[in-house]
Amino acid sequence: MTNYRAAIEAGLPVEPGWDKTLDAYEAQVTSAVLRSPDAVHNRALARLLLDLHRCEHGRTKGDPCFGCKGASAGNRLLSPGTPIGYTVHGHRIVVPPWEDHNEPEAWVQGV
Ligand SMILES: [Zn+2]
Repeated sequence: MTNYRAAIEAGLPVEPGWDKTLDAYEAQVTSAVLRSPDAVHNRALARLLLDLHRCEHGRTKGDPCFGCKGASAGNRLLSPGTPIGYTVHGHRIVVPPWEDHNEPEAWVQGV
């Protein structure tokens, strides 16, 4: 089982200290958000994520793009369905369809 939080909540045996590790991680994330009251840093992170659906010419998929010679093809390196990592809870992070790029929950599978 890779969903450690669910395992902990279900009372299943998990690696000792995982609950403490997850709590520390969540506190770290919360602290990072609170330390940036003007949210400049958070906006930069969000912009970076949203840029992942742009073609190499900077246009979002479907927008007119001279470089793509018509509608932008979007990010050819990370097509929808491409796994790109895991959350702290072990859920897969997968590139969603471009229509769902602005929805954080669309990037995570198995929640
Ligand atoms: Zn393009």
